[in-house]
Amino acid sequence: MADYDENQFLSLVVPFYNEGSALQAFFARVVPVLESVPGTRFEIVCVNDGSSDDTLARLIEVSRRDARVRVIDLTRNFGKEAALTAGIDEAFGDAVIPIDADLQDPPELIPVMVEKWRDGAEVVLAQRSSRATDTFLKRVTATAYYRVHNWMSELKIPENVGDFRLMDRAVVNALKQLPERHRFMKGLFAWVGFSTAIVQYERAPRSAGESKFSGWRLWNLALEGITSFSTLPLRSWTYVGSFVAMIAFCYGSFIVARTIVLGVDVPGYASVLSLLLFFGGLQLIGLGVLGEYIGRIYDESKARPIYLVKRRYQDRRPQGRFGSGGRVISLAAGGKRQ
Ligand code: UDP
Ligand code: MG
Repeated sequence: MADYDENQFLSLVVPFYNEGSALQAFFARVVPVLESVPGTRFEIVCVNDGSSDDTLARLIEVSRRDARVRVIDLTRNFGKEAALTAGIDEAFGDAVIPIDADLQDPPELIPVMVEKWRDGAEVVLAQRSSRATDTFLKRVTATAYYRVHNWMSELKIPENVGDFRLMDRAVVNALKQLPERHRFMKGLFAWVGFSTAIVQYERAPRSAGESKFSGWRLWNLALEGITSFSTLPLRSWTYVGSFVAMIAFCYGSFIVARTIVLGVDVPGYASVLSLLLFFGGLQLIGLGVLGEYIGRIYDESKARPIYLVKRRYQDRRPQGRFGSGGRVISLAAGGKRQ
């Protein structure tokens, strides 16, 4: 094992949205694993993303018993990407590890990730070795999505890698400099770069409760990913337009030539109508694509915060290594520290 500072601090960042039923099992499994990592101390930054069940009450209860558990309560449901951003902004650790609350990411991988980090990797990705626990449809669409994304976008996102990963403080600080409202975390994580190591794992089925990502939400996430990291859909209209115009020109020349040679010919209603419909459809698609981007420009230009914090529980800096006296103020994109 490489040399390391005996007193490293790990932050686990966990977004919670209606995870009341999975919560107990999560802490029961995660805490012993974190305690077993040699030479480290840790905090668990729990972000309550506007849950409507008893998640918050349960989190507060856990944090009362265990001072290493901090709770950040957001004012409403901002979505997983925003909740993760909140947690990452609030984390104090030398290394930060986002993880899902439903135990689909095995916490047992954390010691392995820490090992790789100590060996010099600034980012340690946890890559799913298979998607056997997913439905057939999700498997197929996920594979297709990575293909399309990586083909369209200059930024390649690694396949079958979720938000579960370890990031060095330097990476976290880089990430915090990205101001966009539309946060496609997988893409942002990849965008910041840094030296990366990969560990493989088998993704478990959900421990309790249901997935919060319906087909529609996943579709929107996919759109987010593509529009955040590629302008190809926007630019492609130049080529589609030129191509169609070229065909139209050829066809037009053909009709003119035919009229000259064969005389005037009245029938042609069907072809005119189908062309009309075809171009109408094409224009609407083009407008839709423009809309996707303009909508995002509009959102970004409003420059609203990514999330708002209602309250923090157990909000104190870890003792004994950040100097004595005054608390260092670190302002998150959401409100002030209390
Ligand atoms: N989550 C969240 N806000 C949301 C939706 C989900 O914080 O609006 C959290 C959820 O509590 C869980 C993680 O994001 O910890 C992953 O969600 P889920 O397991 O439903 O997604 P899946 O594993 O099906 O992709
Ligand atoms: Mg899950």
